[in-house]
Amino acid sequence: MILILFLFIFLIVLTLIFKNRETFRNLINPKVKFMSISEGCNILKNVKELNNYNDLDFKIRKIDKKIYGNNVSKYYCEHLLDFTKTEKILLKWLYDNLYERTPKNLRFLYENIKFAKYENIIENGFPHTHSDVVFLTESFIHHIIQYYNTNSVEEMIENIGVIIVHECVHIWQRKNKKIFYKLYVYYWNFIKVDKIHNNIMQHRIRFNPDGVDTNWVYKFDNKYIIPLSIYTENAKNIGSVRCVGIYLNKNGISFSMPHKDDLKMDNLTDIDGFNKLFKNVHGNHYHPHELSAELISIYYMKKMNISHKNFNNKALDKIDIWYRKDVFPKYVYFN
Ligand SMILES: [Zn+2]
Repeated sequence: MILILFLFIFLIVLTLIFKNRETFRNLINPKVKFMSISEGCNILKNVKELNNYNDLDFKIRKIDKKIYGNNVSKYYCEHLLDFTKTEKILLKWLYDNLYERTPKNLRFLYENIKFAKYENIIENGFPHTHSDVVFLTESFIHHIIQYYNTNSVEEMIENIGVIIVHECVHIWQRKNKKIFYKLYVYYWNFIKVDKIHNNIMQHRIRFNPDGVDTNWVYKFDNKYIIPLSIYTENAKNIGSVRCVGIYLNKNGISFSMPHKDDLKMDNLTDIDGFNKLFKNVHGNHYHPHELSAELISIYYMKKMNISHKNFNNKALDKIDIWYRKDVFPKYVYFN
């Protein structure tokens, strides 16, 4: 008798789990994870590259080098915040709608998405990533409210969701370096080098956690440039940068910058050879990781019929081929 009763209860529980499997799956493995201050800090402590800051990186971010010189992550930990209940609701709403609108075969990008939160002053409010976590500021999250209140899903995706896609691409780049190198080298004419000799601009390069290694050379018409984001004279914040291409000398398989008197650099948007591929990309175009994050987020917007209907360039055409040849065969659907 007892055995039958147990069996009966077991069957009911099983049916309940099956009927609500989505809810149970979320309970066991939540789709969106909100990092506490200590969890966020643990991530930052393991980002060794933060100690690559040059003097301008410290100065322009107003980080005291004497205090944080050898422990930059400490500075960032001190400015982490916990998420409020409302913020969690907003980000979950964003996530659910972004996920719903994204074609099934592109949803793998959002797997195990993690958010951490900063005070508004950090990194000029620019969203960015470390390890597998997207770092957002308080005011960025609060921008979602206007869309949430009117349930304007399309506008939200066009203005905020697109940035989340961009950030998720940066996390994907860390998880699968190989597939992105393939895009840069075989589809986009980039050459990866270990070092640029005589790199006299090193002290002016703005550190970017999403593109730490800047040793990427772009080739066109037997010319070679290194795209960089460099601080302008009298830069007031990390938004004061120029995105330039610096022409390099090629010696065998190595590349070097010329003597400072012969240094030639142009704004990336003025370099025809660069525009051949990347025409119409006016922001975030100074590193292959930024170019791919930017163009993949545009690719998503097009596939979702949200925006960029008429946007096109050769690099995006190549992304389309790369998805079909290299990405889709590797990534199974994530539902
Ligand atoms: Zn980026």
